[in-house]
Amino acid sequence: MLPTAIVLTILLGIIAYIWGYPHWLDWREKQLFQRPLPPHWQAILGDRLPFYRQLYPQQRQKLAAKIQLFLQQKQFIGCNDFVLTDEVRLVIAAQACYLALELGSNPYPRLDTILVYPDAFQVRQVSSPDGYVVEEEETIRAGESWDRAGQLILAWGTIAWDLERWQDGHNVIFHEFAHQLDMGDGAMNGVPKLARRNDYQRWQSTFAAEYQQLLSQLEHNLPTVIDPYGATNPCEFFAVVTETFFEKGQELQRHHRQLYQVLQKYYCLEPLINC
Ligand SMILES: [Zn+2]
Repeated sequence: MLPTAIVLTILLGIIAYIWGYPHWLDWREKQLFQRPLPPHWQAILGDRLPFYRQLYPQQRQKLAAKIQLFLQQKQFIGCNDFVLTDEVRLVIAAQACYLALELGSNPYPRLDTILVYPDAFQVRQVSSPDGYVVEEEETIRAGESWDRAGQLILAWGTIAWDLERWQDGHNVIFHEFAHQLDMGDGAMNGVPKLARRNDYQRWQSTFAAEYQQLLSQLEHNLPTVIDPYGATNPCEFFAVVTETFFEKGQELQRHHRQLYQVLQKYYCLEPLINC
């Protein structure tokens, strides 16, 4: 006869397999909902992140649960002698979790590790524009999201700059984590996983039209609310308009009402006001 401990382990394993990891995360988040953040963490968030001060108590509690889950799940690594502090981890986790506040308990399933550099870092980019000749180019980046290896890279210098400027339309954390949302369904194509099947048609038609409009505005040297970097490709367009939505929401609503509505429906959040 098998010892009771082994039988119990096998039974628990079967239950866990049937119940599934996403359910476990839901359950864990609900548990953490009852546990507030330490007071000095709350002080850091209130001091560094203006949107935290504007949240309703219920939203703040939800964010606290998500931050704790995020910090338990994801690994942080300091690169080039960068020293990771509670504040660094917290500021990154809080913005990542705020972006995905209404997107379920596992919004970044492909992300395992966040690498933090002190400043913008150099990367070697290999491309082949014509499909024959391979070109190598050194570029400076403030952030990078990989669809393989489960890694996301951030430069603390750029994050610190963004912390002082909440309405300039630039936020490297929102940008890189928007890429993670995009690749959450397994395909990085500028379309994240949407709540309902019916939502895809409106998303695709709106984004295609807005992307073409940005290309056309840039071609004619017209001013744009959306940063020109969004014209790089549809994936960058989604990441850039995410930054615009949160940081220049009123302008986006005035000039790109459809796009604003689609993003508001997706994130279920309001843009930052008077930060
Ligand atoms: Zn990008």
